[in-house]
Amino acid sequence: MNERDKRRIGEQIEPGGRPKAPGRLELLQRFVNSYNHDFPPEWDRIGTPESAQAWLRQKRLIAPADRVREADVARLRDLREAIRTLALANQGAQAGKAATDVVRKAAGPARLRVSIDGAGRTALEPDARGVDGAVATLLGILHEAQLSGQWPRLKGCRQCGYAFFDRSKNRSAAWCAMSICGNRTKNRAYYRRRRAPAS
Ligand SMILES: [Zn+2]
Repeated sequence: MNERDKRRIGEQIEPGGRPKAPGRLELLQRFVNSYNHDFPPEWDRIGTPESAQAWLRQKRLIAPADRVREADVARLRDLREAIRTLALANQGAQAGKAATDVVRKAAGPARLRVSIDGAGRTALEPDARGVDGAVATLLGILHEAQLSGQWPRLKGCRQCGYAFFDRSKNRSAAWCAMSICGNRTKNRAYYRRRRAPAS
């Protein structure tokens, strides 16, 4: 895979070529996949106020007039990594207090309200503008996915941490792409075993 394609993973290209998460959960998946620790820090799509503002605007999470500050970048990235940890916990591990604390703190100013359309359909909508509203939308999606039962299928890859949607029947997928991350893990284990002194 060339650099141009690597830079598109998480937006135009799904990790491992898997189908994206369904419905609004795709947006939360994109948020988690706005960065991967395997790539240079400057590839972080929300790594600076300018890039975060452009990304949030493109996703209609903020209005054109809304501004993103340095402090917003920090809390967005903290929230992203906390949600990644929750997605990794969908592999069967405990999420840990640190991650849930970050989400709880982010949820403080991120108010949601129930809206209703002409057909009587209700939805959770942010009750604030700017980054607070964006965080509220993302947390609303997380909540909805937990209610719908889709959330446990959004997993963090055990190798690279990308969020992927596990469509397998028995929910057994552990890596974003078995051909890349699965083999990388296996090779590493293989070399570890080989390096280990014979007993
Ligand atoms: Zn992976």
